[in-house]
Order: sequence, then C-alpha cells, then structure tokens
Amino acid sequence: MEIDNPTSDWANRWRHPDVYLQRSGPYAVEGYMPGDELTEFIHSDDCKILVVGAGGLGCELLKNLALMGFKDIHVIDMDTIDVSNLNRQFLFRYKDVGKSKAEVASEFIMNRVSGCKVTPFFGKIQDKDEEYYSQFSIIICGLDSVEARRWMNATIIGMYDEEDPSTMKPIVDGGTEGFKGQSRVIIPRNTACYECSLDMQTKPVTFPICTIANTPRLPEHCIQYASLLLWPKSFPETKIDGDDPDHISWLFSEATKRADEFGIRGVTRTLTMGVVKNIIPAIASTNAIVAAATANEAFKLATSCAPIVNNYMMYVGDEGLYTYTFPLEKKPDCPVCGTESVKITISGGWKLQELIDLLLERPGTQLKRPSLRTSTKSLYMQSPKMLEEATRPNLEKLCSELFSSGDTVVVTDANLPISLQLVITFE
Ligand SMILES: [Zn+2]
Repeated sequence: MEIDNPTSDWANRWRHPDVYLQRSGPYAVEGYMPGDELTEFIHSDDCKILVVGAGGLGCELLKNLALMGFKDIHVIDMDTIDVSNLNRQFLFRYKDVGKSKAEVASEFIMNRVSGCKVTPFFGKIQDKDEEYYSQFSIIICGLDSVEARRWMNATIIGMYDEEDPSTMKPIVDGGTEGFKGQSRVIIPRNTACYECSLDMQTKPVTFPICTIANTPRLPEHCIQYASLLLWPKSFPETKIDGDDPDHISWLFSEATKRADEFGIRGVTRTLTMGVVKNIIPAIASTNAIVAAATANEAFKLATSCAPIVNNYMMYVGDEGLYTYTFPLEKKPDCPVCGTESVKITISGGWKLQELIDLLLERPGTQLKRPSLRTSTKSLYMQSPKMLEEATRPNLEKLCSELFSSGDTVVVTDANLPISLQLVITFE
C-alpha cells in the first residue's frame, strides 16, 4: 500500500493558514479582499521576504515562515555554527559545526519543506546595499545586537521615498534576553522606528573602577576585581579565555577571597563565567514564543488578513509572567525617521572632546565613532586618516572657539548610516 508522504504534499501543507486568506471576518483589515489571489500571492515569488539572522530566533523564524506558506525566503547571517548553539538552534546538527548558519539553515528548510526556496547569504548585513534590500516585501529581524538592529533600521528607513510606495519596507523585529523578549513592527516614517526608542535600551552593566578597587558591594564587583585588576598583574602575557575552565577557576577563587574579605555573598562559578563572558543565557522556549509572534506579524503584513500589532509587544517571563502591548511614539528629533533637529545645551567652556564624550554616553545617541562638522568646516573626522590627523588638535579646543551658540553641528558615525543634526546652545 502506498502512503502519501505528508511532508511532500505542499499544496495541502498550508491549508490551515490558507483558511484565513479565503474568508473575511470581523477583525480583518478594512478593504481586505480574501480569495485565491491572495493565497497565490503569499505562495509566489512576488512575496519575497528577508530573514536577518539565522541563530536562535532565526531558526525559529525560518521554520515558522516556511510552514506558513512563504515560498521565497532569503536569509543573511555572518556566523558559523558553534557546538554551543546546538541546544536550541535546531536546524543544525553536530556535523554542521564550523559551517555557515545561513547556508545550513537554508538547506535544512528546503529539504524539510518542499516547494519553499531559501536563499542564503553568508556575510555581514553591511556587505549588502540598497539594491539588495529593495527586492524584499518585508524584512524580519532576529538579531542579537543593538548595533546590527540600528544599522538595519537606518538603512531600510533611509531607502523609503514617500513618492514611491514600493520603497516602503516594513520591518518586524524580534529580540530575546533570557526569559524576556519583545516583538515589534516598524512601518517606515509611520510608526516609531528602532532609533526612536534607543533610550529604552539598558546599557551593559559596567562598574566604576574605583568601586571595584576600593569599595566593592556586589559579587560582580569582586569578580571584576579578579578579572580586571588581579589577572593582568598575575598573568600579563595571557588574555582571559572565558571558555577555559582553569581561567574561570582561578578567577572564581580570587573573587571568593575578595568577597570574604568584604563580607559579600553570592560569588558563584556560574556568575563568574557570566560576568567574564558578559553573557545572558539564551532560553530556547523564549525564542520560540517571540519568533512565533514575530512570524505572525509578518504573515498579517503580507496578507492584511488581520490587523498588525500597534506596535510593540513586550514579553516578561522573569518576574512571573507579564506581557503588554503599546504604541511606541515616534520621536520628532529621531536621527533616522524624524524631521526636527536635536537641541542640546552645553557649557561654552567645554572642549570638543567633552562634547564627543557626551554623544558616546547620551542614551538617545550612543554613537561609537562620531565625526562632527558645521556647515562650513570639519570639527573632528574619524576618517580618512589624514583628515583625522588634521582635525585631532580641535579635540582640545573649546567649543566656543570652534562654533557659535545656536549653530547646527552635523554628527555622523562610521558604523551607522545616520546623520544627526545637533543645534548646540551655550549656557
Ligand atoms: Zn525614529
């Protein structure tokens, strides 16, 4: 007797999500036209989508999107598979260690979901230009860094030309951290963008070195005392390797001595490893929850079969369970999607270096390598090398010598496609 192989029966595979495309309901978006045309659209090459990241979230996203009926999926990831990924990145096997995540994930999905084409790119998001990104209908991000999200957000929003609706690419972004996560939809210049809410990001915890050296109060202070101060003295030639058990044992033992001296409790081996590697453990099921929500938003965006999230969903699982959805507001002075300039007041007695330090620290700016210029001259340029050398002496000059109160200073960053207009007033 012949048994139908259900995994190859792709006409039947999507019959459940397809039901939503064949009928209208009280919650469908106004003007929603259900029927065969829509069903065909989502299963066609005209509905090409991009998944950015093929890690913990990316594996889940690719699986969900392929099983929902998206048939032309591209995926981009610069990483190779590490043995520590295998506990949650379920598209990878032990034999795949060392290979490209994007390539292995694509192959897995295509073998498993016949009829679905997944095109991998093994490289950085920055390797691709606007022409590449403009071929997609929706960009779905499962990234693990703020920098990568800021770059994607600024690039996609920068591509949008209000005269040409085809340049409008919605972004659906998922993110997780331990038991916590978020999923959001960004409609360029319509909703808040990633940069608008940058000041919600908690910065990685760092402690002042004087606290670590003189007045420790937390177990983390003791661990950093061992790793930042004692290690370089004891082993000046060796860099700490967070994956080397001997290194962790040494740091754990020194941190414990320090903690005992100050009556501090809570130094453990796991905490030592966490502080040294600066890691928050990933939880597979949080990725599954967030990726599912993110993929559903992509499906609704592609089909209009139901209203999309407005526009930010947070999932908090580390203090009981709590989830909340709210519209994040656009910032009129957002350097990516806003139209207004940012106004700041500083002392005219500040050196240019102090202004730059402010831009590095300020929660809403958080630039890494800012270059500054006025409409008439370069104040400080990070590159090219010659210009950096020529403008470096300005760092020690007073801002009031370099420009006037009320002038606009344009700030760009080598790592981000943004340009920030700062109107600076001296107090
Ligand atoms: Zn914005």
